[in-house]
Amino acid sequence: MCSVKSFLLDQSKVLVIGAGGLGCEIITNLALSGFRDIHVIDMDTIDVSNLNRQFLFREKDVGQPKATTAAEFVMKRVPGVKVTPYFGKIQDKDEDYYMQFNLVICGLDSVDARRWISATLVNMVDPENPESLKPLIDGGTEGFKGQARVILPTITSCYECSLDMLNKQTVYPICTIANTPRLPEHCIEWASVLEWPRLMGDKKLDKDDPDHISWLLERAQTRAKEHNIEGVTYSLTQGVVKNIIPAIASTNAIIAAACTQEAFKIATTCNPFLNNYMMYTGNEGVYTYTFEHEKREECPVCGGESREFVVGKDWKFERVLEMLREIQDLQIKRPSLSSARSGPLYYQAPPQLEESTRPNLERLCGELLEEEEELTVTDASLPFTLTLRIKFE
Ligand SMILES: [Zn+2]
Repeated sequence: MCSVKSFLLDQSKVLVIGAGGLGCEIITNLALSGFRDIHVIDMDTIDVSNLNRQFLFREKDVGQPKATTAAEFVMKRVPGVKVTPYFGKIQDKDEDYYMQFNLVICGLDSVDARRWISATLVNMVDPENPESLKPLIDGGTEGFKGQARVILPTITSCYECSLDMLNKQTVYPICTIANTPRLPEHCIEWASVLEWPRLMGDKKLDKDDPDHISWLLERAQTRAKEHNIEGVTYSLTQGVVKNIIPAIASTNAIIAAACTQEAFKIATTCNPFLNNYMMYTGNEGVYTYTFEHEKREECPVCGGESREFVVGKDWKFERVLEMLREIQDLQIKRPSLSSARSGPLYYQAPPQLEESTRPNLERLCGELLEEEEELTVTDASLPFTLTLRIKFE
């Protein structure tokens, strides 16, 4: 019975990223589909609020790492399956680690982590070595909605290519927050993004601390009143700050099943796999839609080298930073900029460099920059370096 199927299922080593609502389902489905060598990474410990849907965990497991507990449960339940857990961040591991897998499946709720793994797998591709191409299956859910996609790094569109498909409400332009709030969310963002650092200095905002949320609520309510905005509540404040997405167990089950089927098809080549994006919409009746998400030419991860950026000679340099933060497909929060000709133009950190480059913010683009000059942009949330090619209006 040594078919291609059993060979591939025995040989293939799969990595699951995330052992939460989606991850628990994915690991279980993989084990029940015949995958025998499964690895799982998760940086979280089990919280009592997870128990309603993350069914590999029980009350006695609260406080334990999710990855370890999930691995033990599945190994006990499905004999012959080896699940190797890692309790930590995906960023702790290097390319050698990722190179050992045939397939990576993400069941994450974090955009930053998805961007990181997608960019890492794209960078790992060596055209001389077909083994270096690791298919990435990415699942995600949001309430009754979800999506599953297959990314063949450098061949199909990558995660970064589709950043503009992210829910737009979650990113508010900083100038709207600072100057012209219209929504209760704007007031809450103002309190957390601008007022907290201004009044609290280096003290870190703890999103799980009720006192911190109450502090933000109070400030946001004052600001809302000044601008005649209604609807700032404690739960909305918590929701905006923590970016809470409602989790529904059955949506996770649907998306995890879709991801696992694609993994099975890729591992066994038994049937064609998803090309390349499936959307599941359960919030307005039931609707699924599959399409080929195309590569974005300007994608900083898998596309061209530099991105054209048009500025006015009479703009203050500060405006370049503001514009960068508002580009939906970049999702930059605190950009630092430099160029080969001028060195650091503006750095967010360390404090001495921030202070010494701060005067540039007031300078005019016409005197600070040159036509065709290439600027390097770095940001904590960017898993790569972005290059901007300056064009004057
Ligand atoms: Zn891309």
